Amino acid sequence: MQSTMMQDPLSLNLLLERAGRLFPESQIVSRLPDKSLRRHSYAEYYKRTRQLAAALLALGLEKGDRVATLCWNHHAHLECYFGIPAAGGVMHTLNLRLSPEEIGWIAADAGDRFLIVDDILLPLYRQFAGKHAFERVIVFAFSGAPVAGEYTNYDALLDKAPQEFDYVPHDENDAVAMCYTSGTTGRSKGVVYSHRSTVLHTLVACLPEFWCLQGRDVVLPVTPMFHANCWGIPYGAVMLGSKLVFPGPHLHPEDLLDLIKLEPPTMALGVPTIWLSLIQALEAHPEKWSLPKGMRSLVGGAAVPESLIRAFAKHGVRISQGWGMTETSPLATLSFIKPELAGVSEDEQFRLSATAGVTAPLVELRVVGDHGIAPWDGKTPGEVQVRGPFITGRYYNARADNVGQDPAKFTDDGWLRTGDVAKMDSHGYLHITDRTKDLIKSGGEWISSVDLENALMAHPAVAEAAVIAIPHEKWGERPLACVVTKPGQSVTPEALNEVLTKKFAKWQLPDRYEFLETIPRTSTGKFWKMKLRERYAVKG
Ligand code: ADP
Repeated sequence: MQSTMMQDPLSLNLLLERAGRLFPESQIVSRLPDKSLRRHSYAEYYKRTRQLAAALLALGLEKGDRVATLCWNHHAHLECYFGIPAAGGVMHTLNLRLSPEEIGWIAADAGDRFLIVDDILLPLYRQFAGKHAFERVIVFAFSGAPVAGEYTNYDALLDKAPQEFDYVPHDENDAVAMCYTSGTTGRSKGVVYSHRSTVLHTLVACLPEFWCLQGRDVVLPVTPMFHANCWGIPYGAVMLGSKLVFPGPHLHPEDLLDLIKLEPPTMALGVPTIWLSLIQALEAHPEKWSLPKGMRSLVGGAAVPESLIRAFAKHGVRISQGWGMTETSPLATLSFIKPELAGVSEDEQFRLSATAGVTAPLVELRVVGDHGIAPWDGKTPGEVQVRGPFITGRYYNARADNVGQDPAKFTDDGWLRTGDVAKMDSHGYLHITDRTKDLIKSGGEWISSVDLENALMAHPAVAEAAVIAIPHEKWGERPLACVVTKPGQSVTPEALNEVLTKKFAKWQLPDRYEFLETIPRTSTGKFWKMKLRERYAVKG
């Protein structure tokens, strides 16, 4: 029997229309290169976004054409999020922290037709311009400087866009956006999102136990808009009319704290490394800054140490940890407290918050160990595999000559192999212990680098810690800990090992410590363990 329901496709255009009609007074604040703030109402945003779509159509954009963006977080980038799909195009966010060679390769692989670029990023664009010929380069005058004649001026393009605009008809499975994985483990791979996947992800992510996003929220996305669609928050915020505060290019902790003071958010998003430096800057100058009481923070992209969650709690900020990847849109799990655990102690709540949390609705998740699907016993490790309507089922351009990427990433029965290693506890909380390639196998036994790092970062003198495997003749591999101490503090390997012995067996303790000024970061701001492995990959 067929349902009596209408078959209207899920569509991002519905979210934009809702925002334009219902929330004309909501605000979008962007921090400009000179650090001043520029404000737009949602009414202006709605108008400009439709103008962008009309202008792209007038330029000859055809359905499915890729429009690349090379932009910081600001209102014009948000216009691209909805304006490009409204014209039937596919927004392709380029990661400005990758090497010019890599960006050029990605643009060519994606077959990007147009590019929308911040004027302050033109020097970067010129470094990869020879790798891929965009048909047109549209420059957003973010700094306010005049745009050179060889480029199309973004604002002028919007100003002279045709008055009339009709959304390009589409199917719900048509592509709206694409994003390449950051390539920290090999060549970047493209993931393509649809209207359907994006709308479903948005609805799930906004649920009360996930982001609990509301129209009255003030959202500060520190997560770059080129990183996994800024975790999807721009779609949710526009759907609900939440105020957005964009930091532009100013991501130093002091700059973020200044912005938080000027435009206090109720919710902020970022990777743990950014939050680690933010809390250090805050605690070094408590007289200068504070965090808004009751602010929520969504942190993910890498394991969130319990010590970080506790440090923010002292300032009245609740951190929720999410786990996911570019391939999963990205939110696949989130660490909320399940109803049956509502009465647990505060310590236990912190412990649960430091897990990757519970699987999101519509996502199926399994942990597959050496003997098949692992039981929910909190003990049996295995690879996390996922499937669902907002999980990618393949990579863009996966060609016959390029299939190496596919069988390794998908199982025969159609699940995405995430390459993350985890255990599932009896309540369904996922404990990520490593990425497959970060695992340390010593004398045939696994040691979790994430567990060691979290314990080290709980030491009062330690600002950051990353643990890697180094080759060892007798044991195969042994852990090496790279540690950054807090300013003016020092600590010895013996003192650190003494703390670790409370939680770890002696054979699990790092053999060696390296005290560093900084830990190398990936293009999305996570610890870059591959670089550390390259540096220390000598026989131990
Ligand atoms: P890339 O894989 O290129 O670094 P992604 O942003 O897609 O870019 O990263 C996804 C990966 O980040 C996951 O596979 C996982 O290893 C890691 N990750 C994300 N969230 C968490 C988390 N909460 N805990 C531990 N690891 C995480």
